[in-house]
Amino acid sequence: MAFSFAGASNPLMILMPNIDRNEIRKFEEPTAFWWDKKGEFKGLHDINPLRLAYIADRTALAGKRVVDVGCGGGILAEAMARHGARVTGIDAADAPLVAARSHAETSGLKIIYRRTTAEEMANASPRSFDVATCMELLEHVPDPPSVVRACGHLVKPGGAVFFGTLNRTLRSFLLAIIAAEYILGIVKKGTHTYRRFIKPSEIDRWAATAGLLHQDLTGLYYNPVFKRMGLGGSSAVNYLMQFTKLEENDTLNNALL
Ligand code: SAH
Repeated sequence: MAFSFAGASNPLMILMPNIDRNEIRKFEEPTAFWWDKKGEFKGLHDINPLRLAYIADRTALAGKRVVDVGCGGGILAEAMARHGARVTGIDAADAPLVAARSHAETSGLKIIYRRTTAEEMANASPRSFDVATCMELLEHVPDPPSVVRACGHLVKPGGAVFFGTLNRTLRSFLLAIIAAEYILGIVKKGTHTYRRFIKPSEIDRWAATAGLLHQDLTGLYYNPVFKRMGLGGSSAVNYLMQFTKLEENDTLNNALL
């Protein structure tokens, strides 16, 4: 793997890709489970229609070039491709990409899948996408600001960037870790680490340095026991965010005036 540095917060990132091997190992397992809708990634399947609705309501997808950063087995990538998007899915681990490629083929969908990081891709092909999506990834990387900035570099001016992750609150600790991993067992133990959870204000701060203008913050509610879910309401646990990449000659201050 080539080294990456686009937007890295830590100078060591120039020599090391923004990847946590322990995090990657969690996803480097047999490939079949990604598409088992009742399996380990049930939660991602359950909330996927909400994520898709959030994105599709805010940006046109048909014919657009979309990069899905940390695409995993392609759950969101496929949904966007079905909406007519020309999707490139990137992931740092091999196993999810094997599952993603084989499932896209079975589904008859043309999706490009590549093993790389957001930073590498942003270095190689800046401003080459209309839309970037980055769902349930930021809480797994050592330097999330660097990924946020790389997503900003990946899209063209005027393009849309979407993030989805877990907030760092007492409620998210109790629900996303204690309840989901230890009481209900719907997420594998050790999948999430509380200190890696991210506050929306932190994403706002990192995004601003990449010329990304905050458009929206929406809470995503998910109750796996009663299979109830929806958008809106509190963003104390899961949330989605939308940003717009400013035009080259625009500054964040001008845009905010
Ligand atoms: N975005 C998908 C999958 C989320 S699981 C979805 O929401 O459906 C997190 C994925 O991020 C895993 O597939 C893991 O391999 C990948 N990943 C972890 N660190 C990464 C990094 N630094 N760059 C790119 N992908 C990474």
